[in-house]
Amino acid sequence: MPELVLTKNVGKKDSHTLGIYEQGGGYQALKKALLEMKPEDVIKEVDKSGLRGRGGAGFPAGKKWSFIPKEAPKPKYLTVNADEGEPGTFKDRVIMENDPHMLVEGSIITSYAIGIYQAYIYVRGEYTRSISRLEDAINEAYARGYLGKNILDTGYYLDMAVHPGAGAYICGEETALLESLEGKKGQPRMKPPFPAIVGLFQGPTVINNVETIACVPHIIKNGGEWFNNLGAPGVGGGIKLFPVSGHVKKPGVYELPVGTPLREIIYNYAGGVRGDKKVKAVIPGGSSAPVLKVEEIDVKMDFNSLAAIGSMMGSGAIIVMDEDTDLVKTLRILIKFYAHESCGKCTPCREGTGWMAKIITRIEKGQGESSDLDALLDIANGIRGRTLCPMGDAAAMPVQSFVTKFRGEFEDYIKRG
Ligand code: SF4
Repeated sequence: MPELVLTKNVGKKDSHTLGIYEQGGGYQALKKALLEMKPEDVIKEVDKSGLRGRGGAGFPAGKKWSFIPKEAPKPKYLTVNADEGEPGTFKDRVIMENDPHMLVEGSIITSYAIGIYQAYIYVRGEYTRSISRLEDAINEAYARGYLGKNILDTGYYLDMAVHPGAGAYICGEETALLESLEGKKGQPRMKPPFPAIVGLFQGPTVINNVETIACVPHIIKNGGEWFNNLGAPGVGGGIKLFPVSGHVKKPGVYELPVGTPLREIIYNYAGGVRGDKKVKAVIPGGSSAPVLKVEEIDVKMDFNSLAAIGSMMGSGAIIVMDEDTDLVKTLRILIKFYAHESCGKCTPCREGTGWMAKIITRIEKGQGESSDLDALLDIANGIRGRTLCPMGDAAAMPVQSFVTKFRGEFEDYIKRG
């Protein structure tokens, strides 16, 4: 097992408190950044680290920060996206519950680097423990002078608040999240303008995932190159949290180098398949990532390797399905989720997800027709790339990949009736 960075405190008594965090070297990176580094040096270090967004899109973090204009007529904001709602994804919760100060420290350093004076952490409403742990951590940080006015006597100031979501999956989409934070109905905005230019309350806004921001103190403390080298040889990009669920013997969150082969994660870390059955299918990056067949699980878990075989790293959430899994039922569950969560703002997603849910339900009930599979693919193809936000693609990709890669199983269902 490689040395742990993000999860090293998990399981330690009172790991969420300021005292324990400081005992382990917590807030040293903040001191280094504010007392020894210029804001642009912090961005350079994060650039060097090869850190790419851990929420799904995988955009290089340092580059994203550099898009924020230095001078802006409106205040700039940091918004941490903690609205973890993608089925199969449960990694950010581990950080927020066990090491909330890591996220608070990362948020302060990020804000300092970009010249931000107000930060929000938008947390999934169901994550009640994460919310209370973050609120406690923020209060402790204020009391210790890490937040508020004149931080560490440098003249820099920052305010931070936690905002709980109200249960909508779509608020994990960055612009819907901003709408929700502004007190409006959580629906995505048209882009451009991008949030880096016109974001929260019309000000330039950086939106980063929890895990991304939690990496920042370690990068500043140990250097960008150190972090990059934690990735698999020839891959780089640091470490990553991989939540593993489904039919494995040891489901859980595994912290491993970016580029660790999927097979190794399933068999060496998650203990292999329950009952020593065979793998039938694996979703490698949260429920919207195109499914893989067993022949494809030697892929390295990094952005480029997964894209090269037509899937994606997404949140890195791995869902393992054994040889007995009913893939028609599985796809029905996934599609119903997306149909339920569609915000309804654009037609292909609003109507298409409902149509796909109806067809797959009919097939599962034994009332499918031979034309149904092509109809499913037609609808999915009509959604993909034609919607206002990425949720359309998220709903279309499972349909395209399941029906294409496991067509025989779907045809059997229809034939058997
Ligand atoms: Fe809403 Fe779906 Fe359109 Fe996104 S793709 S804006 S979730 S209707």
